[in-house]
Amino acid sequence: MNSRDEYEVLVVKYGTRSTVRSDVFLNYGVYREPDAPIEMDYFCWIARNSSRTVVIDTGFSHAGGAARGRTMLIDPRDAFAGLGVDAADEPVVVVTHAHYDHIGNLAHFSRSPIIVARSEVEFWAGPHGRHAQFHHSVEDDELRVLAAAVDSGRVTLFGDRHQVADGIEVIRVGGHTPGQAVVSVRTADGPVLLASDAVHYYEECDKNMPFVSAANLIDMYAGFDKVRAMVADGSAAYVVSGHDPATLDRFTRVDGLPGAEVAVIGKLGS
Ligand SMILES: [Zn+2]
Repeated sequence: MNSRDEYEVLVVKYGTRSTVRSDVFLNYGVYREPDAPIEMDYFCWIARNSSRTVVIDTGFSHAGGAARGRTMLIDPRDAFAGLGVDAADEPVVVVTHAHYDHIGNLAHFSRSPIIVARSEVEFWAGPHGRHAQFHHSVEDDELRVLAAAVDSGRVTLFGDRHQVADGIEVIRVGGHTPGQAVVSVRTADGPVLLASDAVHYYEECDKNMPFVSAANLIDMYAGFDKVRAMVADGSAAYVVSGHDPATLDRFTRVDGLPGAEVAVIGKLGS
């Protein structure tokens, strides 16, 4: 292994909202626990080294966030720029799933290669993606950006797993959406699992408490099993949640990007 095989992972908090537990855990009443406030944070992720930058999800757009009352702390496009990620360099963009808070700025990367599960693209193009229980989490114009990218030939559609580069693998787990994917990144601190919305909150995985929005509940539980198994066998030294406010505190904070909160895992020397 040489240094090109390892990456640093940046966890970028660009948005937030306040809600209650009964709004984020599916059928919360079955747990017979009191309801309580809970925060939800919104993240993008970057895996990079001296030879390669991979963007993992692009955050929500102003319109997509505003339509749902979300607080944008920094425009993700500005966060990428502030962290040295230039869309003109056409970094590879991994789409973990097509919800508004993950593909809202895909148009910013108008020439980048894109990697997404085939089942995700097919779901949103098909009849079931129109149902209110699913469709409230997407923006049609943003789905069109993704569909146009597919038509243009710059999208790699994968089945169950895909090697993005040496040291970066994307793995479909489904559950939250049919093509929900997680991303494994090799770092100097060990393999990092970007769980995205396979694990919105660590509690989901720790206590088998599914998130409120599920396309396939059995697959969601199986996703928790898979994440736990990866932790147990060492293939995930760190799990990065999709939305848990406790996420950043698990890692090393990075200063210098006003508005955003950023943490790094496996920081590489400059
Ligand atoms: Zn999300």
